[in-house]
Amino acid sequence: MSAANAAGWRPTMGDTTPQGENFTTKSGDYGLMLEEPLSFEIGGREKCGVDLDDPQGAPVAGLPLRKAAPDLPGLTEPETVRHYTRLSRQNYAIDLGPFPLGSCTMKHNPRLNEKVSRLPGFADVHPLQPQSSVQGALGVINELAHWLIALTGMHGVAMTPKAGAHGELCGLLCIKAAIEARGEQRGVILVPESAHGTNPATAAFAGFKVESIPANAAGRVDLEALKARLGPDIAGIMITNPNTCGLFEPDMKAISDAVHAIGGYVYCDGANFNAIVGKVRPGDLGIDAMHINLHKTFSTPHGGGGPGSGPVVLSEALSPYGPLPFTAKTADGVIHLVEEENAQAFDHSQGFGRMSAFHGQMGMFTRALTYILSHGADGLQQVAEDAVLNANYVLRSLEDVLQAPFAESGPCMHEALFSDRGFADGFSTQDVAKGLIDEGFHPMTVYFPLVVHGAMLVEPTETESKSGLDRFIASLRSLAERAKAGDRSLHSAPHFAPRRRLDETLAARKPILVWKGEPGPAGLPSPSEIGDR
Ligand SMILES: *Cc1c(COP(=O)(O)O)cnc(C)c1O
Repeated sequence: MSAANAAGWRPTMGDTTPQGENFTTKSGDYGLMLEEPLSFEIGGREKCGVDLDDPQGAPVAGLPLRKAAPDLPGLTEPETVRHYTRLSRQNYAIDLGPFPLGSCTMKHNPRLNEKVSRLPGFADVHPLQPQSSVQGALGVINELAHWLIALTGMHGVAMTPKAGAHGELCGLLCIKAAIEARGEQRGVILVPESAHGTNPATAAFAGFKVESIPANAAGRVDLEALKARLGPDIAGIMITNPNTCGLFEPDMKAISDAVHAIGGYVYCDGANFNAIVGKVRPGDLGIDAMHINLHKTFSTPHGGGGPGSGPVVLSEALSPYGPLPFTAKTADGVIHLVEEENAQAFDHSQGFGRMSAFHGQMGMFTRALTYILSHGADGLQQVAEDAVLNANYVLRSLEDVLQAPFAESGPCMHEALFSDRGFADGFSTQDVAKGLIDEGFHPMTVYFPLVVHGAMLVEPTETESKSGLDRFIASLRSLAERAKAGDRSLHSAPHFAPRRRLDETLAARKPILVWKGEPGPAGLPSPSEIGDR
């Protein structure tokens, strides 16, 4: 530790205190915080977790023979188990504490969902099985589709998109097909400034030109600016409601009416549906297409890239263009999978194509339906109420120490938004986020939405208890006070994490993902030679 920040010294692993006390250990482990090298550094060719027989008989004709053993790090079974268990303990998890990531809706995942999704009739089915043998599984898809339509007040639903962003693409392809069917050319999608990054990315990917609509002082879409831009080149608008500032768009109906009046369509990013589920039906707000993140609103373990599921509910105007396949129940009680060969019979010949090879994410469907049925209509309403109550509790508990940009315009929805205004010179959101790691919390979403300076977006979700929230609030309060007082030790936080402050930009731009190099002592490439290829 440099003398420069000795005044604000706090113990840091691996450091020596100004008084000369040593904070290092011989093993590199610190109590229950265990260090762990890469498997390449501890493995060797001489070890293996299983006994393999020597190859018998003649090699299979045509298959090339390996001349040397692969460069894989052999580990014994106990070494393997310890390696991954030790690595897992360096990670944070929703089962360890709150994950206040705004926009991500990281909530507790009821174990009942897991139990149901593991039932062999759901977990072991194959997408190519005869439909008569999987009527139960198809029934789950069909019933979930029914509830998603009922909860949103829409006309149809595409169940196959595999994530929120995939659902956005599905919705925009429906809009594109509808415009083409009208024989029109409309190339522009409007996206508010506060939009989630996936919105403009999706619109661009679907071949539209993206234009931004400014936010007003209250953090909502500027209705007048929107109306001024509307015209015959507008295909539609992508709007998030509640928006990414955690605010409800009160002008939603007026926005929909204005967009419809010029022949455009309204896409709603429904990732924040947990804030309004059971309270508001998007169909009543004039929305034409909306994806629902089953893995957020209806609970499924998510993060790290999956698994997810993003069904898209569609208005009457867009339903004819929805993708194949989908389920349909006939009067005889049989559930059919509507595919290319029977689309005509089910009056669906204008579908734009398909979003996925098969039926969608079966595991997510069973979890979501379990969640919906176990909560019931009143329980789902309570989800929204508790999510909003928890976020407002966070907002009002901290607005005296953290600047809350839109707090004056009323309550928030499911997430509380703060800025770094008022911090001492040189202190920013980053310092507070890193400090939260030392406090034992996963940081909140930072620097998003972009419309707020040094944004900190906290989404507690409905599953955090009051005492849990109080602990989080106390930590965030103390960090805000330290940032305002200019406590320099915050600049080097986290002090108590397995890794300190990383160069995240370099890690994202130049990730080192491949082991390369000369064989090391164990006959494997040496640790110093890890490089990017
Ligand atoms: C999570 C999220 C998305 C994207 O959903 P994925 O399932 O991650 O693709 C889009 N918009 C908002 C507002 C979100 O929170």
